[in-house]
Amino acid sequence: MMNAATSGVPMVHADRVSKSFGSNEVLKSISLSVPQGEVMCLVGPSGSGKSTFLRCINHLERVDAGRLSVEGVLVGYEERGDKLYELKPREAARQRRDIGMVFQRFNLFPHMTALENIIEAPIRVNKVKKEAAVAHAQELLARVGLAGKADAYPAHLSGGQQQRVAIARALAMEPKLMLFDEPTSALDPELVGEVLDVMKGLAESGMTMIVVTHEMGFAREVADQLVFMDGGVVVESGDPDQVLGNPQHERTKAFLSKVL
Ligand code: ADP
Ligand code: MG
Repeated sequence: MMNAATSGVPMVHADRVSKSFGSNEVLKSISLSVPQGEVMCLVGPSGSGKSTFLRCINHLERVDAGRLSVEGVLVGYEERGDKLYELKPREAARQRRDIGMVFQRFNLFPHMTALENIIEAPIRVNKVKKEAAVAHAQELLARVGLAGKADAYPAHLSGGQQQRVAIARALAMEPKLMLFDEPTSALDPELVGEVLDVMKGLAESGMTMIVVTHEMGFAREVADQLVFMDGGVVVESGDPDQVLGNPQHERTKAFLSKVL
């Protein structure tokens, strides 16, 4: 059967993407590609533009120049000759629904239980019937190892449990792409593993993922591709074992010596 996965259209394709905040050029002609079903880990020092890049993919920031596409559909706008092509707000909203995002801070609704957090968007945005949403949420809670926590409020969950609920909440929208922005950076060290394990399972299930992380063990084990960014440019990228084991650039070496 011919579908997007077999036709070779990358899930995310960036071609000379640039983005400035005022005079601060944060992304300087970024080019990279994430094939469907693959995991890309994005690493680099603070301020190098990693979050901004994820935010551009998810329509939280607008690209200034270059082409950025998700499954072949253009994100934001681009110049075509002297004309600007812009994605319509409705198309952008539709595209965003297919993209799950998990942040450093868990961002759960504090006044809702774990289950209520998970069923909120499917019911409100996707118009899923409540019973179906609840059944799916229970499955997702089991999948992230929290089958017994449906009725717990975020304040009564550990950081690692909250982050796993946040992952389940993103999955409830049945995304085709998951973006993780330092999902374990705010966690106590002993809670990092349980979140990485859930992400690893997700990767093994075939989910396309971009993961900003400093967890190089995870990157080495799970990523198909590791991209090192610094100062708004892709300094080097490739097979994680190769980039981590035999970095080619001084900036990569300097960064890895601090995080490994
Ligand atoms: P990273 O995630 O790699 O730490 P960011 O993408 O968060 O990097 O930030 C890259 C640069 O962009 C930083 O200099 C930051 O101050 C700047 N920046 C990010 N978001 C904004 C914004 N909304 N307005 C102005 N500057 C921003
Ligand atoms: Mg960041």
